[in-house]
Amino acid sequence: MRVDGWIIKSPSVSVHNLESLASEVRAEYFPDAEGIPVVWGKNTGRKRRRSIRLGSYHRGATLIRIHPLLNSPSVPVYFIQSIIYHEFLHHVLGPAHDRRFHRHERCFRYHRESKEWLAHNLPMLLGLRAKPKHVDRRRLRAKTGEKPAVQLQLFGE
Ligand SMILES: [Zn+2]
Repeated sequence: MRVDGWIIKSPSVSVHNLESLASEVRAEYFPDAEGIPVVWGKNTGRKRRRSIRLGSYHRGATLIRIHPLLNSPSVPVYFIQSIIYHEFLHHVLGPAHDRRFHRHERCFRYHRESKEWLAHNLPMLLGLRAKPKHVDRRRLRAKTGEKPAVQLQLFGE
């Protein structure tokens, strides 16, 4: 698949289907939990920022918001699902990032790859670098000894 340039403005067409990504996460990790809507947040149009909140869980509204910058072909599916997974954990476990939370967080199949992807691409998300940085999956695999993640079929079977 060809990866186009980084989309800064909200694309008119959604690149990633949040609803289906979320339902995969739920089916795999939270089969007994009640489903909640997962939606794109609003784009502020800001290009550079000091920090970025990639996802948020709104207890009152029982809603998960994902930052619209992630709606780009440059962002791998497993990364968006890791954010959904994190916010869904808040839905199930509560607001604290305590040891229990972190223990559960590590259960996400691509936890390590997601952290690695973020480490490589945070400058891009903050608007400090234009291009996404490719993370060499073979190198990652050698390091983690895990099977490669297959995009779009993360939780198939
Ligand atoms: Zn959190």
